[in-house]
Amino acid sequence: MSRFTARSVCPYDCPDACGMLIDVEDERAVHVAGDPDHPMTRGLLCPKMNHYEQTVHSGRRLTAPLQRIGAKGEGLFRPVSWEEAIATICSRWSELTGAYGGECILPNSYAGTMGLVQKNSGHSFFHRLGTSRLERTICSPAKDAGWKMIMGETPAMDPAEMVHSDLVILWGINAAATSIHAMRDASEARRSGARIWVIDTYHTPTANAADEVFIVKPGGDGALALGMMHVMLHAGLVNTAFIAKNVQGFDEFSAKILPDCTPENMAPVCGLSPEEIERLAREYAGSVAPFIRLGSGLTRYANGAMTVRTISCLPALVGAWQRPGGGIFCGASTGAAFPLSRVVREDFMEHPTRWVSMNQLGHALTALDGPPVMSLYVYHSNPAASSPDQNAIIRGLEREDLFTVVHERFMTDTARYADIVLPATSSLEHPDLYRSYGGYHAQRCHAVIPPVGASKSNWEVFSLLAGGMGWEEPFFRQSADDLIEQLLDFATPWRDAVVTEKLRSGEPVLLTPPLDPQRPWQTSSGRIEILNHHLAEPLPRLLPTHAEGDGLPLRLQPATTPYALNSSFYEQDDLRARQEPMVLMMNREDAKQRGLFDGEQVTAYNDRGRVTFTLSITERVPVGTVVTEGVWWREFIAGERGVNALTSQRLTDGGRGSTLYDVAVEVGKGCVIFI
Ligand code: SF4
Repeated sequence: MSRFTARSVCPYDCPDACGMLIDVEDERAVHVAGDPDHPMTRGLLCPKMNHYEQTVHSGRRLTAPLQRIGAKGEGLFRPVSWEEAIATICSRWSELTGAYGGECILPNSYAGTMGLVQKNSGHSFFHRLGTSRLERTICSPAKDAGWKMIMGETPAMDPAEMVHSDLVILWGINAAATSIHAMRDASEARRSGARIWVIDTYHTPTANAADEVFIVKPGGDGALALGMMHVMLHAGLVNTAFIAKNVQGFDEFSAKILPDCTPENMAPVCGLSPEEIERLAREYAGSVAPFIRLGSGLTRYANGAMTVRTISCLPALVGAWQRPGGGIFCGASTGAAFPLSRVVREDFMEHPTRWVSMNQLGHALTALDGPPVMSLYVYHSNPAASSPDQNAIIRGLEREDLFTVVHERFMTDTARYADIVLPATSSLEHPDLYRSYGGYHAQRCHAVIPPVGASKSNWEVFSLLAGGMGWEEPFFRQSADDLIEQLLDFATPWRDAVVTEKLRSGEPVLLTPPLDPQRPWQTSSGRIEILNHHLAEPLPRLLPTHAEGDGLPLRLQPATTPYALNSSFYEQDDLRARQEPMVLMMNREDAKQRGLFDGEQVTAYNDRGRVTFTLSITERVPVGTVVTEGVWWREFIAGERGVNALTSQRLTDGGRGSTLYDVAVEVGKGCVIFI
């Protein structure tokens, strides 16, 4: 029997990018643990990954290429060889590109794996083929856009500084589900005397660990920040010395925007009372080093970028940045640490091709102007479950003339509609290089077990497809390790030779953002730009949500759960058993108004869809808000549709992000029968 322990990295779309130790016996992963020497993980994995071996060796894994033999969506396939699958795809693509041009092919991928090579390995292939390009903007581009509007290219603070704060605000982040190491840091800060506030739209599991919880209306976070700043200004609680030296546009903001943002005016928008807004402002401004950790959910609204921009003014007004532990953390951007252009190869495009938003996939498949989408290639993503407006996407996937290929580990809701399904490796079966977006660590890892069945990695499949298309470029004949080496073999101020060698050896390392003490704010003015002359909206202000105009009374929050990540992890029986499928949480008052009872089947609906839930009446959600956790696979739910049949293809105010949380619904008795 061969036994060893190897290092690896959690590949999922989570800020923490944990280091893991994998025990392998006879080419099977048998045990997974957090790496005690990893700077963020420090031995702690979340419940989702404690038994990653159950995902890797799940009986549900796809182990051979498949070709559809049933109707679209029926899930009936026959096994075929890799040679047959690749030949079928390449010949169909040659026909389609000859008839419609390259843009008739649309890749769809997101963050099923976060490794820099495997995640991005399709770009070079699709650039060479001249296909439509996908705007990969479902998660938090509005957050990035809002940060840049005020902070420019300023690197994020180290989130671990939170432990030095005396007031930690977990704002719109269910860290207990999505960022457990931030929870650990918050607890550490609390042991040193810090207070913990949670600001969210319902009482999340994170709220259980807070000293105080403030429940806001969905999309009302910016109004709360504006109300707080009004109070701070009028009570003389702003740090005038810091502002004079570091901030651009405070006077204009104070004169033009803040006068209308009284607590009384902001209270109905944000859902807190004027007295609460006043108290939050005074306690925030009175703290020595207040720290805000901002989530992403609050950015998935029509006003998402403006919300981030507005909240980011708070630490500037009180000079929180001056003291260790003070500031705001939206996310670490470590893109400059590795030359991704060497993997994505935009230079392979003969000419720039059209962009298609992944948030508007349903529209792209059914009603796009220009060349129709005739083929969809889906890899490490599951848009039929996870992308907005599920009914529109399924209408597209049902098109008989759409040639769909899905490269996946499991028979996802999307794969059921594929013409060809290709089996994908898990992260333990291929090499990659990972970097965190919740901190500054990075790590390279190798395959620790052989591929399960005939599965292949993203990069291997694109190499095969390049061969099938008859392309001669040596680029496509490289291995994933060659590409990793190209990312490492590039000098950058983010890592010196010692750090790069550690990366090569598989050790977790900390990257160093290049900071200029003479110019801490990387904006065009060199100051924090509350006033930004380059924007159509030069000052932060109150913006409405989309849902406000929809004419339905309840706001739906499609929330996170500690036991799944979007539609990932539902293959693990134990994790599934810890959740009840498709529960809709509703306040007692809303339920009473509608004559609804705890535990009964209800239908949430709007003009995009109707979805069956089991009602849970709870005071965890306020009046006017309903919440459901998780993105369930269709095979595990009673109805035909998941939560994303209710979400919309509308975009955010900045970054063209998704507005998955900006949803209005009504709820009534009974379940939906699809005919
Ligand atoms: S999902 Fe996040 S917290 Fe859980 S193991 Fe992976 S990186 Fe760590």
